[in-house]
Amino acid sequence: MADRVFVFDTTLRDGEQSPGVRLSMPQKLEIGRALVKLGVDIIEAGFPISSPGDFEAVNTLAKELKGVQICGLTRAREKDIDVAGEALKPAEHPRIHTGLGVSDNHLQYKLKMTREQALETGVNAVRHAKKYTDNIEYFMEDSGRADPDYVYRVVEAVIAAGATTINVPDTTGYTYPGEYRRLIEGIIENVPNSDKAVFSCHCHNDLGMATANTLAGVLGGARQVEVTINGIGERAGNTALEEVVTAFQIRRDLFGVETHIDLSLLIEMSRMVAGLTGMMVQRNKAVVGANAFAHSSGIHQDGVLKERSTYEIIAPEMVGALKSEIVLTARSGRHGLRHRLAEMGFSFPEERFEELYDKFLQVADTKTEVLEDDLRELVTA
Ligand SMILES: [Zn+2]
Repeated sequence: MADRVFVFDTTLRDGEQSPGVRLSMPQKLEIGRALVKLGVDIIEAGFPISSPGDFEAVNTLAKELKGVQICGLTRAREKDIDVAGEALKPAEHPRIHTGLGVSDNHLQYKLKMTREQALETGVNAVRHAKKYTDNIEYFMEDSGRADPDYVYRVVEAVIAAGATTINVPDTTGYTYPGEYRRLIEGIIENVPNSDKAVFSCHCHNDLGMATANTLAGVLGGARQVEVTINGIGERAGNTALEEVVTAFQIRRDLFGVETHIDLSLLIEMSRMVAGLTGMMVQRNKAVVGANAFAHSSGIHQDGVLKERSTYEIIAPEMVGALKSEIVLTARSGRHGLRHRLAEMGFSFPEERFEELYDKFLQVADTKTEVLEDDLRELVTA
């Protein structure tokens, strides 16, 4: 049996923190419902004390969505936790996500605390959260730049206090996959009570490593991934849900894990979030980009038309795309042109086809893409 990895979606919390994004309550609920259908395990719906809108989002999703854990973020402060506890009251499965920084940088400049003070503050926060739920996730902000020995002490203490999930955020997107994997492995090996918690990857994409680091963390023993649809989030964004779950599927040989995500809904989900947030997806984005299954060069088109797997490792239908797309450009060859013409219902004897191919190349040199209308003109001219 493959090991289960829990999918923690933070599109509505970390994703909504993207500069330029503001979702209304009905839009959040629409995304929340789609996430449940998609099969995520946990929805982080907001940071209840931060604004009335975030409180309402957590509270409404807690009321409306069943069969999923609803999570609210807090700082390691009693007032934050009380407000989150209140917002989460109607939830079938509430989770409180609390914690604070562990890097010397955050302790010194942001929190202005010693390591000991921060450790005590974190433990007290977990104890306080237990008044509301046993489902407590503890985040150690900026773990990626922290002293591992201190991280081990924090993890041991907060698990002893009742935390059941430990989030190891690479908040600043600083680590590389090998380092992030060793960080997770180090925690699991060196913390005596590490078997009492699930470890979670929360990675940012500042160096383009978010997905790679998250996958490395899973190889290191993490069993929860914190992700957003399309990878939206602060600065360069978070880890993209669609990339991680598709990698688990395509490389089952390597990961040996499974999620409850319905992959065939990925493209629909991606388009919905892009539409509602106004954060457009780049054409060449992995898995869900408009070009993810489009082939333009003659050599690739010829290969894909003979056998799809020559140039495609992901079957388009698996993630909800209609089919591989043969895009006609000046780099396209005879096989691609013949295929597109056949799709339109045309077939020509060899000599006539060669004539058309020459004309096609002339047209293609003047445009980025030769569209169906252009082809129609070509064959009727
Ligand atoms: Zn984050």
